[in-house]
Amino acid sequence: MVDVPELVAAARSGRPRAVARLISLVESASPQLREVMAALAPHTGRAQVIGLTGSPGVGKSTSTSALVTAYRKRGKRVGVLAVDPSSPFSGGALLGDRVRMQEHATDPEVYIRSMATRGHLGGLAWAAPQAIRVLDAAGCDVVLVETVGVGQSEVEIAGQADTSVVLLAPGMGDGIQAAKAGILEIGDVYVVNKADRDGADATARELNHMLGLGEARQPGDWRPPIVKTVAARQEGVDELVEALEKHRAWMDEHGVLAERRRARAAREVETIAVTALRERIGDLGGDERLGALAHRVVEGELDPYAAADQLLAALTGRY
Ligand code: GDP
Repeated sequence: MVDVPELVAAARSGRPRAVARLISLVESASPQLREVMAALAPHTGRAQVIGLTGSPGVGKSTSTSALVTAYRKRGKRVGVLAVDPSSPFSGGALLGDRVRMQEHATDPEVYIRSMATRGHLGGLAWAAPQAIRVLDAAGCDVVLVETVGVGQSEVEIAGQADTSVVLLAPGMGDGIQAAKAGILEIGDVYVVNKADRDGADATARELNHMLGLGEARQPGDWRPPIVKTVAARQEGVDELVEALEKHRAWMDEHGVLAERRRARAAREVETIAVTALRERIGDLGGDERLGALAHRVVEGELDPYAAADQLLAALTGRY
């Protein structure tokens, strides 16, 4: 058993190993998870959570690393959570490949962690927000949440951030892809990376056009800026940080940050509740109640909705 208060105190005083340990407790759904989350709760809400999404190869990992450099220059403590919704494997192997992060690996003010979210009950959808809480409570000023790999969950990951950055690159047919993936609705800031390549201006223009096609904005509405970067050479990254800071200020001013965080917390609570419910249904299946209901549905004695009602009634009666 872990001494949770001690571990939380160590993480808050900036000990990277304590932070790593807390995230491991979250990821393994430790029996002490509840105790950990309760201890962290009073210390959360300070970090700016920034999500980065975009097609593979667009430069997310390079941009994340470049952002870490830029924020470190400003004296900020930075957390990086690389979430892979397409893999069931968490941990070192993934990060080992992420050479670009290596330059930050020995910086005690930078916490880098990868997390796979597939292949677990409830898709581990609850785990990423809890890991963000750990990084937040550990005093990170900025938490960068990067989606690694491909997955439908891109939009879902974006939903966990205060500010969503969508990356595109020239020559990838990204404009059209983006529109298809509904990514044009989720970006607060757009980045056209690889601006050293031909076609960057055309990509930015196309994107600008597509963003303008939406409904007429009201005065004071946020118009997502498009920032051109060469992440591999740290170019345009200060402008990106500036755009992120402007977005944060705009959210504060218009009450958007509080609203987004409430919506996020609501989803988080719902996800945890649904996961718990599913586990309990699993337990019920063990004592064959679900099996018996299924049998009656197959026999036509009961419709699936009535059966579900009975199952829920059994659950609430039992717990
Ligand atoms: P991710 O899959 O979205 O995380 O993309 P990566 O960050 O791994 O980058 C994919 C490739 O693009 C790598 O070979 C990078 O070196 C390269 N790359 C990243 N940023 C730039 C850039 O600004 N310009 C150019 N020319 N290449 C870049």
